[in-house]
Amino acid sequence: MDGCIFCKIAEKKLDSQIVHEDSEVIAFEDMNPQAPVHILIVPKKHIIDLLHLSSTDEGLIGKIHSVAKRIAKERKIEKGFRIICNCGEEAGESVGHLHFHLLGGRRLEWPPG
Ligand code: 5GP
Ligand code: ZN
Repeated sequence: MDGCIFCKIAEKKLDSQIVHEDSEVIAFEDMNPQAPVHILIVPKKHIIDLLHLSSTDEGLIGKIHSVAKRIAKERKIEKGFRIICNCGEEAGESVGHLHFHLLGGRRLEWPPG
């Protein structure tokens, strides 16, 4: 989608440090990491957020979590990691293209802010 940062990253029109890519999903380092491991896992298809997820795209959510599991193992953060999907402005969503944060490599507090 025109003007969408994550679509541009998926189309390689914007640089990123890609850690995984397949036909449906791309994962790359967050440019403003909040933990030693902070990776964004993103469907290549432009879906605004979870509220805009259609039933035909449900499979993508499982796939994204499988990718998260693989990266968590690769980065050796099995001791503790978190997958976060901010939905809506009050939850801190700042990019309107569905994405999941994979965070780990340090103790993560609960509840989150
Ligand atoms: P949100 O706040 O929407 O849940 O998360 C958006 C995330 O995208 C933020 O953690 C922010 O640092 C990251 N981000 C925004 N623009 C870019 C970019 O151009 N490249 C990368 N790698 N990360 C970005
Ligand atoms: Zn997009």
